[in-house]
Amino acid sequence: MSEVYTLQSIPDLDRSTPLYGVIGYPVAHSLSPAMQQAAFDSCDLPARYVRLEIEPDELREGIQQLRQMPFAGWNCTIPHKLELAHLVDNLGESAQILGGVNTVLNRQGALTGFNTDGLGWANAIRDDFGLEIRDLRILILGAGGAGQAIATQAAFENCKNLVLVNRTPRKAEELAESIWTQFQVESRHPGRPRPEAVEWDPDLLEEKLRHVDLVVNATSIGLKQDDPSVLPAEILHPGLHVYDTIYKPTRLMKAARTAGARCSNGLSMLLHQGALSFEIWTGNKAPLQEMKTALLHAANSQNQ
Ligand code: NDP
Repeated sequence: MSEVYTLQSIPDLDRSTPLYGVIGYPVAHSLSPAMQQAAFDSCDLPARYVRLEIEPDELREGIQQLRQMPFAGWNCTIPHKLELAHLVDNLGESAQILGGVNTVLNRQGALTGFNTDGLGWANAIRDDFGLEIRDLRILILGAGGAGQAIATQAAFENCKNLVLVNRTPRKAEELAESIWTQFQVESRHPGRPRPEAVEWDPDLLEEKLRHVDLVVNATSIGLKQDDPSVLPAEILHPGLHVYDTIYKPTRLMKAARTAGARCSNGLSMLLHQGALSFEIWTGNKAPLQEMKTALLHAANSQNQ
């Protein structure tokens, strides 16, 4: 695993090579360095991609430091995505639509923020399942940062139907309402139903799952090894596609296979959001195969 830099050690980085990185707290287990370094290397672009651990109360100072160093761009992970949107100079369309920032481009000290999580997820669904978002009835569990980005992207791509479920119901209700208003679904796509927020109730979920094509886990249930499946196998069915945003093996994946559903996990979302970041920074087409190989290798080493 490559070294983790902090605000104190960032100035020690060798400035002769263009720098990129991932900021977060914690960040030590991020798989982005393996994937992005492979992309730069395979395109013969001189670059060094590092982990940068920045605590929440250091974020403003940290961004100032990166702005002044030869950091050409960086990714951002938990917990800085929303705050970062207020610290950059401009927001690209993706960040304006989705809210948070997970990718920053630094051009001579001027910072532009983008969000590649939403499109990264949609590209993962296309790649893994061969499905178009506009053809899908989708149920999303979780209305935190990832759930919001995915639900907004799904609505942006005009999915057939959207059901939102969250432990704290108010958040799902607010998200459903804001999507309905933001995309003016009623006038732009007449006939498309209003996004629906439903209670996290096992009987209700079973009923809803009968009428969806894709279910997405965007909660953190499954991150810990002994977490249960976010949905029991009994309420899944062979007609479903199950996508877990968590990128290590989870009990949900096992339950989906047991139920005969098609399933995939968050490694593909990580890959596609990273590929889009790489393209923003370099203007080059991302070498997807090389990035995927490096990502799988890093993930396997971490899971051992
Ligand atoms: P947030 O902290 O913003 O949101 C966490 C979500 O999980 C909330 O909806 C929360 O519900 C829910 N939750 C947490 N604990 C429980 C529980 N015990 N029971 C029910 N619901 C629970 O995190 P993110 O949205 O950033 O991340 C969510 C997941 O998405 C994570 O697992 C993360 O690994 C994954 N992710 C994957 C990415 C990828 O590229 N593959 C990218 C980004 C995220 P409540 O609102 O009630 O607290």
